[in-house]
Amino acid sequence: MIDSFKHKGLRKQLIEEIRQKGIQDESVLSAIGKIPRHLFLDSSFLEYAYQDKPFPIGSGQTISQPYTVAFQTDLLRVKKGEKILEIGTGSGYQACVLLELGAKVFSVERQKKLFDKTREFLPRLGYRPRLFYGDGYKGLPTFAPFDKILVTAAAPELPVELFEQLNIGGRLVVPVGSSEIQQMMTIDKMADGELREEKHGAFRFVPLLEDKAND
Ligand code: SAH
Repeated sequence: MIDSFKHKGLRKQLIEEIRQKGIQDESVLSAIGKIPRHLFLDSSFLEYAYQDKPFPIGSGQTISQPYTVAFQTDLLRVKKGEKILEIGTGSGYQACVLLELGAKVFSVERQKKLFDKTREFLPRLGYRPRLFYGDGYKGLPTFAPFDKILVTAAAPELPVELFEQLNIGGRLVVPVGSSEIQQMMTIDKMADGELREEKHGAFRFVPLLEDKAND
């Protein structure tokens, strides 16, 4: 598992590309700059690791495009020490970005194979989020409430159960829509418990799985 000068150089270029696409938060850019994304891809894709593109990670899933990771992370407005729930662990890359920002990360994955692979892999890089195998639609009631919740697969509609697991002042970030293109949404839980929705543009995610047919 080598992170060479060449990889670091490619990462710098990637960060410049993401910056030019509009991400301004330096802490988000610097977190992405620290994580060796090439180690999250199968070796046959190594040369693509620092292109701003999504890539297959097995089990029919993808590691999100770096710009999308940066965009969602930016929307989360992460503060050190916050408790964050991620739905859709996948490769674990996004979870590592949140850890680099000083968050306490809880992440749920629906597919056993991916869950096992990521649970084994992340500690080898020194990252230790709390990983759970299960249906993210239900959140993690035992560990709620969370300061922030991030959904990294497309939800056909707003996942209502997750609002209940959000702290007052907390934020949910989720791509919503059942067609190929979804709308990135933030939902803030206000002091009076009211929910405030905002739309942030079109993105493309793999859909949330509703049953265990793919295990
Ligand atoms: N955040 C990931 C990329 C996510 S791809 C990364 O950084 O690599 C979306 C992931 O959501 C896939 O791994 C998929 O298996 C998972 N997923 C789909 N439906 C889910 C559900 N209901 N609960 C939890 N995870 C789910």
